[in-house]
Amino acid sequence: NGSYPNESETGQTLVIGSSGFIGRFITEACLDSGRPTYILVRSSSNSPSKASTIKFLQDKGAIVIYGSITDQEFMEKVLREYKIEVVISAVGGESILDQFSLIEAIKNVNTVKRFVPSEFGHDIDRAEPVEPGLTMYEQKSKIRRQIEECGIPYSYICCNSIAAWPYHDNTHPADVLPPLDRFQIYGDGTVKAYFVAGSDIGKFTVMSIDDDRTLNKTVHFQPPSNLLNMNEMASLWETKIGRVLPRVNITEQDLLQRAQEMRIPQSVVAAITHDIFINGCQINFSLDKTTDVEVCSLYPNTSFRTIAECFDDFAKKISDNEKAVSKPVTASNTDIFVPTAKPEAL
Ligand code: NDP
Repeated sequence: NGSYPNESETGQTLVIGSSGFIGRFITEACLDSGRPTYILVRSSSNSPSKASTIKFLQDKGAIVIYGSITDQEFMEKVLREYKIEVVISAVGGESILDQFSLIEAIKNVNTVKRFVPSEFGHDIDRAEPVEPGLTMYEQKSKIRRQIEECGIPYSYICCNSIAAWPYHDNTHPADVLPPLDRFQIYGDGTVKAYFVAGSDIGKFTVMSIDDDRTLNKTVHFQPPSNLLNMNEMASLWETKIGRVLPRVNITEQDLLQRAQEMRIPQSVVAAITHDIFINGCQINFSLDKTTDVEVCSLYPNTSFRTIAECFDDFAKKISDNEKAVSKPVTASNTDIFVPTAKPEAL
């Protein structure tokens, strides 16, 4: 377990789900900002890749606390003992309702100045995907209502899509290279979406937690430079790999059928993909509620990584992999690991 914080420290932040896809970005940004950063790790979490993420974050300064948010009594103890001021939860889609006991603990301790529940997608009070996406949104909505009922200070982060090729069957598309054989284009490929780099999801989330303007607000990520449709994404990737790929259209019906198959989590992703690229759920509303704020307006001097820069990273990985494969085996490079499956997340 972690050491006790220095009495003079402020801004103690607890991140839940650090070993996960979004949680890692949040934790890195939290550490980069210089905040005392505690991470809650389930002792059951023992996959080698998760263990290496935790080790990486520990080396960067994160303090590990072992436990689960479902243990309310334990969570109250953690919040009190470590004088936690900010709680950011990035638990995965299957654990959304686990946050009920966390909310209860935050309510009872009553010292947390900001709670960010696990959202990191669309505004679930506006979007209405087909099932099984809808069930996940309804669960996130129940969490919102409970937070508000308990009077817990919150920010809801709606960061839209991750900057990567939006595969309709992959929850973490930034773990996979954009296509190298053919593009699957949803509908006619003209509906736009916001693609935000994982590092920016972390950076702007952490910037917003200290900001009075985001207190009890829904924080939308709508960088104009990152608003692209699938045809534009495909053309951009073609410029990075220096060749043109065939385009196959995936119809609305195809996506609905994938959603109806009820394979979890792929069908959830298909339902949300349908909502984004057919219904236009990221662009078919205006920010007209008093609870809406938008990060580019809040932080006009802080830029977002462009999707072109993120695609450059993917292209570099391909080129690095090719170089590693073509290098002749010598005594000095026999320990080079050449990835043959998925590359690491950005
Ligand atoms: P992951 O499945 O990658 O990671 C979930 C993390 O939560 C893991 O570290 C897991 O720990 C931890 N966790 C789960 N339950 C508990 C618990 N009871 N106590 C403590 N820790 C727990 O999640 P994602 O990153 O995919 O999802 C996080 C959020 O981001 C979700 O709301 C999801 O909908 C959203 N999302 C948004 C995307 C986008 O493009 N905008 C893309 C992907 C997700 P353990 O290692 O023990 O399992």
